[in-house]
This record gives sequence, structure tokens and C-alpha cells, in this order.
Amino acid sequence: MRGKMTEELQERIAGAQMVLVGIGKEMEDPAAGLSEDPFYRKLMRRAEEEAEGENELLALQQYIRLHYLRRHADSDRRNAYQRLSGLLKDKNYFVVSLCTDDLIFSSGLETGRIVTPCGGFRALQCMETDQESRPLCRTDQEPLVVCEEVWNQVMDDLDRCEGEIDKVDFPVCAECCHLLAFNQIETPGYREEGYLSQWSKYKQWLQGTLNRELCVLELGAGMEYPMVIRFPFEKIVFFNQKASFFRVHSRLYQMTEELKGRGISVKADPVRFLLSGFESQG
Ligand SMILES: [Zn+2]
Repeated sequence: MRGKMTEELQERIAGAQMVLVGIGKEMEDPAAGLSEDPFYRKLMRRAEEEAEGENELLALQQYIRLHYLRRHADSDRRNAYQRLSGLLKDKNYFVVSLCTDDLIFSSGLETGRIVTPCGGFRALQCMETDQESRPLCRTDQEPLVVCEEVWNQVMDDLDRCEGEIDKVDFPVCAECCHLLAFNQIETPGYREEGYLSQWSKYKQWLQGTLNRELCVLELGAGMEYPMVIRFPFEKIVFFNQKASFFRVHSRLYQMTEELKGRGISVKADPVRFLLSGFESQG
């Protein structure tokens, strides 16, 4: 059944002029082993002891999560992304992703065709905020620190620290000396500069889909931030009579009344779905 679905999807994508992909939280690496692994449990416990306040704890947890993601590759998930990349090869596509695990950036998909409005692990920012969570730290420098060596160094330190997180040298803000956190949506004072230029590129690309043969593929996008993928995608398909729509989700796969007959619902985990039918893609 699923193999048939993926075959149909392959055909639709092959015949489409443009392909819009939305990636939701079901595609995100849950870092599931983190809470069972003694090394990470110790790190987490020491982070709670060492952190000064909630913000610092959140930042430390982000570094620990990144370490886990880097050192424990989820091969199924990576293969699923590679299948997606193969599927979109040579197509005019754009991907909107809610995931913050950055797996998509090592999938072979073009960075210039991806927007991640929830951020990820590609920049650091200061977390000093006022009571309404607005950024407080004023600096003449760029608000985002985009320098991979900085957090790669932290990853190496974590490798060697034997769970003693106070032995690790974490980067701090050059202006106010607060611990730097990753540019992610749950970071207090989230700096949206991190994705806005890609977002306007996406909006422009969307305008070009009007009256084109468009294939829309939604992978595991449930009700987290439905204004980013789920609702606008439904609207796009509704107004574009030449659009086809695939909604893949393990629980929230249902199609709205207006789109019944035009959209295809697939009740499946999106990772399993991508792995199920594209063997020929390699
Ligand atoms: Zn600062």
C-alpha cells in the first residue's frame, strides 16, 4: 500500500513544475536515547546544578542535545532525508521545516531552497531579554554568531569532560558576557534574523507557483505552529487548481472537507513512508 503511495508521489513529483515540501515535528530526531545514557544523564544533572537560572540551563541543554545528535546519528532518519533529496533532484522545489535538529542540512538538499523558521544549530545568540522576552543586549556587532568552530570546540570539550560540565568552556556574549544559546525558537529573545532572508525568498518562490503544476508534500506536520505549514499549505492547494497534495502523518493525516478528492492522505510515520517505496532512488 505504502509502496503504491510512494510510486504515485514519485509520478506526481516527476510531472510537477514545482514542488513544495513541509517538514513537521514527526521528522525531528527525538534524541530518544539521551535520557537513558549514563553519560548524558550525568551531564544533564550537572547542568542543573551548575546553571545560574533557567536561561542558562536551557542553553546548556541545547549544547548537550547537539552533542547527542552529532555523536548518535539516526541512520533511518538520515536515509529518509537522502530519499527525499533524491526525489527532489533537478526539481524546482522549496522546503519549509519546523525541525531544529538540522539533519536536513546534511541531506544533499540545497541550502538555498530550505527555510527553518524555528532555527537550529547554525548560529548562536545572546539570551539577555526584558520581562517580555524581547532581546535586551545592544551591540554594534551582528546579533548572531555564525562560526561553527565555536560550538565544535564545545562538542570536543564535552567528549573529554567525563560528564563534568563545569570543565567545559562555553562561549559568552562579547557585549554582556551572558552564556550564548543557539538561535532556536525556544531561546528567550529568539532572533528571527536567523531565517527571515530565506523566508522572503520562500514567499517570492510561492508567488511563482500560481497557475503552475505544483506538487505539495507535507511530512509529519501536525498542529505545532500550524500557521507555518499546515494551514497555509491547505490554502495554497485550495487556490491552485493544478496542485496535487500529499499529507503524510501518523495521526493527523486527515484531509479537510474542501480538499477531499484532490489531496491524498497517507497514514504513516513520514520517516517510514520515505524509506518504504524509493529503493530505486538509492
Ligand atoms: Zn549579550
